[in-house]
Amino acid sequence: MSDDSLDAKPVDLSIVLPVFEERENLRELHRQIRSELDNLRYRSEIVFVDDGSKDGSDAVLREIAAGDESVRVVRFRRNFGQTAAMSAGFDHALGNIIVTLDADLQNDPADIGRLVEKLNEGYDVVSGWRKNRQDAFILRKIPSMLANRLIRRMTGVHIHDFGCTLKAYRREVVENIRLYGEMHRFIPALAHWIGADIAEMPVNHRARTWGRSKYGISRTLRVLLDLITIRFLMNFSTRPIQVFGRVGIYAGLVGTGICAWLSVGKFIAPERYSLLDRMPMLLLGILLILVGVQFVTMGLLGELMTRTYHESQDKPIYVVREVINGKSRQPRPLGE
Ligand code: UDP
Ligand code: MG
Repeated sequence: MSDDSLDAKPVDLSIVLPVFEERENLRELHRQIRSELDNLRYRSEIVFVDDGSKDGSDAVLREIAAGDESVRVVRFRRNFGQTAAMSAGFDHALGNIIVTLDADLQNDPADIGRLVEKLNEGYDVVSGWRKNRQDAFILRKIPSMLANRLIRRMTGVHIHDFGCTLKAYRREVVENIRLYGEMHRFIPALAHWIGADIAEMPVNHRARTWGRSKYGISRTLRVLLDLITIRFLMNFSTRPIQVFGRVGIYAGLVGTGICAWLSVGKFIAPERYSLLDRMPMLLLGILLILVGVQFVTMGLLGELMTRTYHESQDKPIYVVREVINGKSRQPRPLGE
C-alpha cells in the first residue's frame, strides 16, 4: 500500500499495534512479541502506531525502534482514535499477513503463531475470541455481550467477539476496506461483505496491569450508531431507490387508493361521503401520498449520492478474488 514497499525488504508478517498512552507496557510488549516472532519462521516486522500519546510513549517507542530494526513507528500528530491508528498501521504494513493486537498487554503475543497457522489453513480473517475475558463484568462484559449479539444478528457474521483487537488478516482484505468512526470492530463484518472467509479462535486475555482503559460505557452508543451505518452500507448502499422507492410506492398507492375511494364515493353517494371526507381517512390518504413522494425522491437522491460516493473514490461495486490467466482490472484508489 505504501510507496516504500518497493525498496524495503520483503516481509511476510506484519504486527500492527495501536498505542495510546501505554508507556510502561511497551518494553515488555516488545519483548514478548520479539520472542514469539523469533520462534516463528516468518520475515516479520512490528508497526507501532502512536496515536498522539502524551505520556512519553513516543520516547520509549523511539528507543525500542533504535534497538530493533524490524520495528517501525508511525506517530500521529494528535489522538485520532484506535480505528484511525489501525488504519494507519494497515497502510504502513508491508506483510502479506497482518496481525493486530492491543498495546496494553491484554492480548497475548504468544497467540500470534496460532492465528497465522489458522489463517494459512485457507481463511482470510482469523478473529480472536476472548473466551475468558479479564475485564470488569458489569461495565464491560455485559454491554459487550449484548453488543456482540446485536452485531451478529445485524451483520450475519457468526463470531462471538467482535471487539477483540487480536486478529489476523490477509493483506487483500484490509486493502479493500476503508475504516471510519469506531469501525475497527466491524472489520469482520466488512470483510464478510466483500466475501472473505472468516474463522474464530479462542485466545488468551489478561487483565490490564498498567495504565487504564481508554473507553467507558459511552462507547456502547457509538458502536450502536456505527452498526446502523454498517447495516445500511451492507444492504442498501448500491441500491437506495430499491429500498426507499419501494416503501414510497406502497405508501403512495395506498394513499391514492384511499383518496380515489373517497372521491368516487362522493359522486355515487354524496350524502354519505360528504361526511366521510371530513373523517381521518382523508388525512391518512393525503399523508400517505406525500410520504410516498418523499420516499421516492429520497431514493433518487440516494442514487445520486451513491454514484458520487463510488465514482469519486473509484470505489468499485464489486471485489475480485482473482483473475485466472490475467491481471485484475479492478480500479485502484487514486494515487496508488
Ligand atoms: N488506543 C488507541 N487510541 C485510542 C484509544 C485506544 O490507539 O484513542 C489503543 C490502546 O492503546 C490499546 C488499544 O487501542 O492498545 C485498546 O484500548 P484499551 O485497552 O483502552 O481498550 P479495552 O481493552 O479497554 O477495550
Ligand atoms: Mg485493553
